Amino acid sequence: MFCPKCKAEYIKGVTECPECKVPLIKRLPSEEFIEFVKVFESPNPALTAIIKSILDDAKIKYFVKGEHMQGLFGGQMQFTSKAGIGNAEFFVSKEDEEIAKELLREVEDNSNQE
Ligand SMILES: [Zn+2]
Repeated sequence: MFCPKCKAEYIKGVTECPECKVPLIKRLPSEEFIEFVKVFESPNPALTAIIKSILDDAKIKYFVKGEHMQGLFGGQMQFTSKAGIGNAEFFVSKEDEEIAKELLREVEDNSNQE
C-alpha cells in the first residue's frame, strides 16, 4: 500500500498514511515511472550540441549519458566501464521516441554526407 501524497510504502493492514492523513492506494499512478529509450548516439561534440538544440526547440525532455555526468553529480561519479566513453547517448521518454527519432533523422543524414 502506498501513500499518494508522500509516496511512502506501508505494510498490508495500514489504510491511512499517519504523516499525511490520507487513505492509502494499492499502487502509485503509472505515470510516475517514465521509461527512457536511447534515440541517438554521437561521438562528435559538435553534433551533440546540434542535437541538444533540436530537442530543446521541440520541447522534448531528454538526458545525455556519457557527457557532463561528472558535472551533474559534483565530480563524485566514476565510470566503471570504458565502453561508450566519448560517446554522448541521448535518451528521451518513450512517448517522445517517435518524434525525436524523426527530428534526428535529418541530423544523421547530414552527418553521413561528409
Ligand atoms: Zn504520506
